[in-house]
Amino acid sequence: MINFDLTRDWVIICPPDPVPVKKCIDDLAENLGKLMGNKKPLLADAFNPPLSDCEIILNLDDHGHEECGFQWRMGDGRVEIYGKSHKGLSNGIYDFLSVLGINWPSMGRESLPPPSSMIVLSVNKGSDSGRNFYFPSQKKEIRKITGNPEEFFIWAARQQYDSIVFPFSAFSSAFNKKGLIGKLTNIASLYNIMIEAGGSEISALLPRRHYFFNRGFFHMEEGKRKMHNHLCPTNPDALKLLIKNAKKIFSRVKGIGFFYLRPDTGKENSWCSCPSCRAFSKQEQFCIIANAAADALSEVHPDAYIRIQATENKEQFPLRKNIIKIERPTD
Ligand SMILES: [Zn+2]
Repeated sequence: MINFDLTRDWVIICPPDPVPVKKCIDDLAENLGKLMGNKKPLLADAFNPPLSDCEIILNLDDHGHEECGFQWRMGDGRVEIYGKSHKGLSNGIYDFLSVLGINWPSMGRESLPPPSSMIVLSVNKGSDSGRNFYFPSQKKEIRKITGNPEEFFIWAARQQYDSIVFPFSAFSSAFNKKGLIGKLTNIASLYNIMIEAGGSEISALLPRRHYFFNRGFFHMEEGKRKMHNHLCPTNPDALKLLIKNAKKIFSRVKGIGFFYLRPDTGKENSWCSCPSCRAFSKQEQFCIIANAAADALSEVHPDAYIRIQATENKEQFPLRKNIIKIERPTD
């Protein structure tokens, strides 16, 4: 453990190209200023740092957009925060601030530690987890975000979210008026946050109205076809219809590189038990659907990816090349 002395004149040494992380560096200075009695630390150029015996040194590498990990360590009069990417550095900065006791429990709300001249810190900390996803799914919440995107994205950056996954309906022409999602993407990029499409949306890819004429498309539970959630993944006509509909939905989602698919919320264990699906595990049934969605996506957006989450270990179900599997659970 070591003391972080708030009475000293700290200088923040910026990384060589600070522009992509400017928002979070400014936020770091601003928040340290609040802890230091409104004496904001100076921001200094990496190539021409001033003489100082109290430095916070920011640095980063570019390990690609999937890497959001960071490390920070502390010595007497020296803090080094390193990110594996721009987002990794941002996450490291906010992790450091949270350890100092600054938190943002909800949008626009801030909680500061009691005034003190010294904060005792552990010497180093890091995270190597993959991307953190946030799924706004309720219309009310999405409207709150679109009503004040600046406030939302700074909150999301402070919470160390790396991707915000909007449901497909947010990309419809009715909702996405005047390129609303494009504007959100621009603001999100200032915080190195990615906008993605999808969520618990499998049912949206196969319209439920088909239940009345094609019950065989839908999943079986205790011998009966059920309309709600998922489908029968071994029915070739159901998959054909899913691909046709997915192409329509995906083509409306423009300028987005990742389409996240996960099982319907609360129905993660509700899969098809018809005689031909019974041979497949829950995860395998999900993978069959993900492969069909990936085929649809490769036709309309050849450079984009489907993301799925692995829920079972060990199994090696063959997946399309444009599928990225996340190995760890997300919220
Ligand atoms: Zn089935």
